[in-house]
Amino acid sequence: MNIFSQLLNQPALPSPNKQRRGIELKSPREVDIMREAAHIVATVLKEISELVEPGMTTADLDAHAEKRIREMGATPSFKGYHGFPASICSSINNEVVHGIPSRKKVIRTGDVLKVDTGAYYQGFHGDSCITIAVGDVTPAAATLIRVAEEALYKGIEQVKAGAHLLDLAGAIEDHVKANGFTVVEDFTGHGVGRNLHEEPSVFNFRTHSMPNVKLRAGMTLAIEPILNAGSRFTRTLADRWTAVTVDNSLSAQFEHTVLVTDDGYEILTDRTHV
Ligand code: MG
Ligand code: MG
Repeated sequence: MNIFSQLLNQPALPSPNKQRRGIELKSPREVDIMREAAHIVATVLKEISELVEPGMTTADLDAHAEKRIREMGATPSFKGYHGFPASICSSINNEVVHGIPSRKKVIRTGDVLKVDTGAYYQGFHGDSCITIAVGDVTPAAATLIRVAEEALYKGIEQVKAGAHLLDLAGAIEDHVKANGFTVVEDFTGHGVGRNLHEEPSVFNFRTHSMPNVKLRAGMTLAIEPILNAGSRFTRTLADRWTAVTVDNSLSAQFEHTVLVTDDGYEILTDRTHV
């Protein structure tokens, strides 16, 4: 796995020397700002889901995202992040994550289109990803997309102060396996706040190679399971960013920025009310 390809998601590597220490709890005032950052992200993704149609290019979507993020008083979190050249990651079909928007990438009916974006507002980031079924997709693709979104919510439902990361990882893994798909292990979610990527790594599968952190109220997590229809393994293209499935099978992902509360969670990037 190329280092550049890992930088927009937390790389799935253990960080034994940083356990707990780096996890920042947000104050109520900081959470208020993160709600704003996350609301901008949710608004942009909802708009993109409504405007995308066959014949557009992924560069068109990127232009819309950057324009709207800036209109709402924020800056794109991804643009320039370790050299990433755009405001969204747009990954189609067998592309898993970190696809680079391009005028040459034309969106077609039947595509499984992942759009991931982030906004930096008054010192804090929001981060979210959706998978869009473009026009009529195959029944298999529709099922993959549905299960990917369900898996995200299975994980989120485990979130509350006192729960552990393995609780949500197990819930995600079980739902994915029960539906015959695989969980990508090369990328994980992450803490999010003043930095786009913070401690802890929010893994989507049972593992003991990363700290099984106990959740506390005030943590803000980007939870972002990635599901493949075939092999869970990925490889990185020559552009040093785009990760694809090794067997060219379809991939889908959903991500929310979530606040841990005493009795549960708040989905900061919820699109329901934007
Ligand atoms: Mg993320
Ligand atoms: Mg993201």
